[in-house]
Amino acid sequence: MKILIAGAGPAGSLLACYLARRGHHVAVHERRADPRLGDDEEGRSINLGLSARGVRALTDVGLMHEIWPSTVPMRGRAVHAPDGNVTFHPYGRREEEILHSVRRRDLVVSLIAHAEAQGVAFHFGHRVVDLDKDAPALTVEHDGRRTTVAADAVVGADGAFSAVRALMHRGLRADLHQEFLPWGYKELTIPKVPAHHEALHVWPGGDDGLIVTHPNLDGSMTATLFLPFERFAEIDDPEAFFAERFPDALPLMPDLVKEYADRPVGHLVSIRTTPWHDGGKVVLIGDAAHAVYPFYGQGMNSALEDCTVLDRCLGLGEPGAAFAEFERARRPHTDVLDELSRQNFVELRDRVRSPLHHARRRADLVLSGLFPDRWVPLYTMISHTTTPYADALARARRQDALLRWSALGAAGLAALVLARKVR
Ligand SMILES: Cc1cc2nc3c(=O)[nH]c(=O)nc-3n(C[C@H](O)[C@H](O)[C@H](O)COP(=O)(O)OP(=O)(O)OC[C@H]3O[C@@H](n4cnc5c(N)ncnc54)[C@H](O)[C@@H]3O)c2cc1C
Repeated sequence: MKILIAGAGPAGSLLACYLARRGHHVAVHERRADPRLGDDEEGRSINLGLSARGVRALTDVGLMHEIWPSTVPMRGRAVHAPDGNVTFHPYGRREEEILHSVRRRDLVVSLIAHAEAQGVAFHFGHRVVDLDKDAPALTVEHDGRRTTVAADAVVGADGAFSAVRALMHRGLRADLHQEFLPWGYKELTIPKVPAHHEALHVWPGGDDGLIVTHPNLDGSMTATLFLPFERFAEIDDPEAFFAERFPDALPLMPDLVKEYADRPVGHLVSIRTTPWHDGGKVVLIGDAAHAVYPFYGQGMNSALEDCTVLDRCLGLGEPGAAFAEFERARRPHTDVLDELSRQNFVELRDRVRSPLHHARRRADLVLSGLFPDRWVPLYTMISHTTTPYADALARARRQDALLRWSALGAAGLAALVLARKVR
């Protein structure tokens, strides 16, 4: 088949590799410039946490060994208390239960090179402006000109504000749930971190903000400051704000004032939608089909996993049935990821400082050590395994219920023993 992909982000570039491997003729149209020619990262996250699902997908297309050297391991969370005290909490019990920080640009450049080597054609500076669903065909704008390209199928991998999705949904009884978080984000730099470089640092500030950092290969860290959206404009003295809210982060950011003024405020959006496809002619993947808040670090990982699932579905039969099966098999899981990503916002912002939260996480790790086959913490299943998201949540709920019943049972037993002693 001749397949057109809109968007050369992580999802579009990886799917191009999968489709080329199946022998399809693939062309990718990307509105931005070729990332190999320079940085064009404005308005998006610089580095991302790669976890098991993404690693599996990249391994599947034979690319992970090329990506490893560009990654920095993140072995756990380093949580900063207001008094400057830092506590480290490992992500898992096993050596391999870690995350990997990777620059979005490095990842995408590797994917593009890999796809091109398999014959995929990339057209940069090509913005998709129209879709003919029946042909199907895409109309792209480049250098002020419009061209229409026909194909056998079109893939919308053009992100949360997907043009393909909007055009595909025209005339269909489509649902779209789009929700902006009242918080936004700004990326800042920490040139050198005194301890725990191989960690995701968190400064939980409750309603007053949240900082999360990812390590870079050169020893620096990219810090993402999350705040209520309007608050960014109200802060006219970022140093005074940091001195009050995140005092131990301030000395780590020598360029704070300049960066705060120069860097844009990004928004955070959640998208749930249906249908994901129109017959066998158009299909959506990645953020175009399901965008989540970034607090579980799964947006890109789930977008990469989509490609693995769609590739498997394409192996089952003709495109119409494959696209339908893709949505049927995948959407319940990405809906659950949406729910989990919302919950993790509250966890990172507020709960990571609470002793109760740490006691619960420790109990989880102890139980998984005692019963490795029976007890797997939810975080482990989401980040370190490829258990489908909804199955992971269902299992975690069963485990929680068991824990509650065991606690009740233990309390009942203790009461019985106490009553006997009193008698
Ligand atoms: C602050 C922040 C932190 C994050 N951290 C993580 C993390 O740690 N781990 C993780 O897994 N995920 C993370 N994410 C989520 C992750 O960035 C996204 O889920 C991921 O980029 C989705 O990939 P995609 O290819 O589907 O879409 P995108 O990355 O949005 O790519 C879409 C591509 O389509 C192009 N495009 C758009 N419109 C058109 C058009 N009309 N014509 C042609 N091309 C077009 C765009 O230029 C872009 O290149 C984070 C997100 C944010 C905002």
